[in-house]
Amino acid sequence: YNKLWGTESIDLLQCRNVLPTERVEPPKIKLHQDFLDSVNCSSEIFRCTLTKIPESNTLLQKSRLPFGVLIHPFKDLNHLPVIQCSTIVRCRACRTYINPFVYFNDSKRWKCNLCYRVNELPEEFQFDPVTKSYGDPSRRPEVKTSTIEFIAPSEYMLRPPQPAVYLFVLDVSRLAVESGYLNVACNVISEELSRLPGDGRTQIGFLAVDSAIHFFGIPDNVSQPQEMIMLDIDGKIVFTHMLFKFISHVKVYAYQLVFNHQSSNLCADVFLPCPENLIVNLKEREELVRDLLIQLPVKFQGTHDANSALGAALQAAYKLMSPTGGRVTVFQTCLPNIGPGLLQAREDPNGRGGKDVPHLNPVTDFYKRLALDCSGQQIAVDLFLLNCQYCDLATLSGMCKFSGGCTYHLPLFRGSKPQHAETLDKILRRYLTRKIGFEAVMRIRCTRGLSIHTFHGNFFVRSTDLLSLPNVNPDAGFGMQISIEENLSDVQNVCFQAALLYTSSKGERRIRVHTLCLPVVSTLSDILHSADQQCIAGLLSKMAVDRCQQSSLSDARDALINVAIDVLSAYKLSQSAISGGLVSPASLKLLPLYIVALLKCVAFRSGTNTRLDDRVFAMCQLKTLPLFQSIQTIYPDLYPVHALEDRNAKDIDGRLCPQPPRLHLSAEKLDSRGAFLMDTGDRIFILIGKNIHPSFCCNALGVSAFPSIPEELYELPEIETAENERLRNFIFSLQEEKPYPASVQIIRDDSHLRTLFVERLVEDRFENSLSYYEFLQHLKTQVKQ
Ligand SMILES: [Zn+2]
Repeated sequence: YNKLWGTESIDLLQCRNVLPTERVEPPKIKLHQDFLDSVNCSSEIFRCTLTKIPESNTLLQKSRLPFGVLIHPFKDLNHLPVIQCSTIVRCRACRTYINPFVYFNDSKRWKCNLCYRVNELPEEFQFDPVTKSYGDPSRRPEVKTSTIEFIAPSEYMLRPPQPAVYLFVLDVSRLAVESGYLNVACNVISEELSRLPGDGRTQIGFLAVDSAIHFFGIPDNVSQPQEMIMLDIDGKIVFTHMLFKFISHVKVYAYQLVFNHQSSNLCADVFLPCPENLIVNLKEREELVRDLLIQLPVKFQGTHDANSALGAALQAAYKLMSPTGGRVTVFQTCLPNIGPGLLQAREDPNGRGGKDVPHLNPVTDFYKRLALDCSGQQIAVDLFLLNCQYCDLATLSGMCKFSGGCTYHLPLFRGSKPQHAETLDKILRRYLTRKIGFEAVMRIRCTRGLSIHTFHGNFFVRSTDLLSLPNVNPDAGFGMQISIEENLSDVQNVCFQAALLYTSSKGERRIRVHTLCLPVVSTLSDILHSADQQCIAGLLSKMAVDRCQQSSLSDARDALINVAIDVLSAYKLSQSAISGGLVSPASLKLLPLYIVALLKCVAFRSGTNTRLDDRVFAMCQLKTLPLFQSIQTIYPDLYPVHALEDRNAKDIDGRLCPQPPRLHLSAEKLDSRGAFLMDTGDRIFILIGKNIHPSFCCNALGVSAFPSIPEELYELPEIETAENERLRNFIFSLQEEKPYPASVQIIRDDSHLRTLFVERLVEDRFENSLSYYEFLQHLKTQVKQ
């Protein structure tokens, strides 16, 4: 009976296998009007922590659940209706775009579902060119689908759409050159030049940075790019000379150039040599650009320059990009140690296992202020951090956070290791070729009575609901926390609408609109039984990152534990006849599991040796990954793969992909005679048990027996056997859902590398943290009696 009505309860202490063997599906949204269910926004784009909205703030508080939405607004889509019309129909009062959830009073008027104002329909909207008749607005695509893109008329632009402009800032210090990243990066950039999103107007430029800033002039009618160097003479803040060195012959000019740190605009005083040839049209100068990309890795070989003037280089980048806006891509391998924005190592390596973690916040606002300047000029800054030592990502990441940029981290990168080179190659190819939107803004509107109070993601909040996004990329996720300000008891539904206005790489101004509609309910039981546990875990992870920065790691951990206690207490109070056990509504049965996983993930774990930059990067990820990926990093997917079969296999692109059952993340589920695959989002590990059958070694891995499996194996060999093909197809099906393929690593159970696998079995007891079962017992003592 309870299952039928979706009000099932589960005793978590009794039912230990709470994880479904198949994918955890988002709860279905059931509106009061059935016909609207089929047009609601896809859960891949828009998710709300509650699929039934409490009618009052009091009721929300009783549920003890966080209220918010997660959105993946620029996700790559297979089917996206794009329409071009002379008038985009919007509410005159609140500017909401007409959508499937508005009310039509009659064929001429519609009532806004966010502010309830009645609006006139323009004639064009009423007229159906197919039947040549008036009066049937419901056939319009705007009211048939919740995700739509408009080609914007001229009133949606402040200036002509900007061209695609790309600037690469490359670290060429000693550590950078030793890491060997330059070869990989320059090679991939060169190979993907023709696939960079853009058109005939696309522009490109390069800066190299050590103790000096190296500009590369790419003028017309020359045989080679020309290098110009801005030198830092006294090793500190003041740049006193300007040296122009051409590759063919050397000319020296002297300039007075002083960085004025009192200036309100940090970037005001950077001097640029002949700016017109530093950012050039890609089509016209493609040959020279390729030439430069070949020369760059060679040019700095054997350098002894251990300095990095990143801050000054970013100021120069800002100057170069200001007229157009665009994307700055920074590759950095060491702490910026001279000039403006220099940083010092402040991590204490002996304190990595401590209970509380200092230095999670930036030490200077230099990078944040720079990002805000960039944001004002429609420039986003992306960072590839390939460091072998502490780089203070907590401070450096400010350049991305506030400019709508993104951060990648490849710690201990060694270009000489094929698996490292391959990972950078894959990430960079996706980065360079995925679509991009320029000079974007995103506005989130919600029904009257609701209000957004906190945003999560990389952007600058320009006004209460307007996010400034100098760039928008299809792999970025955002979160918003919502509060209920006015009683909603007289409305049936509430709506959220995200509108993303951007310039496409082809110079078109476009608006992508997503609308999510949710029913309003009046009982606590309804709310708890229809909560979206994955979305809650996703939002909690973002809130916990904020808590770490505003308060402390231990506070954030306590807050996570308290959510589990409070929610289960609220449920207990709402049920009159529960006795004993630890009872949860079925909708929230995974929440304690996700919270245990969060407490043990790189971002929030304590008592485990964790490098500060790794922790900060994990936090950046939780703030910016779309939900599907962040859940996978929090609670990876584990599958047995020693006996894959074709039964239930899924056909993807003509490949038969086996679908093994998912397992709980516990060593209890492993077997020394088996092989187990763990998908953590950006990495796939396959652990091979000691007593694996030799036929698996032979048929799936192509080695005679367990001892012949190489210690380091980063690729599944391709052999012509059914076992091998099934395993490859299964991995293929996992890779299909990712923005770029995860790296695959095969680990022998007797190798020291097994830690990589075992430390993610988050349900087991670790040295300093509770097992899932112990955590449940702790919850039971805390849940109000
Ligand atoms: Zn309105």
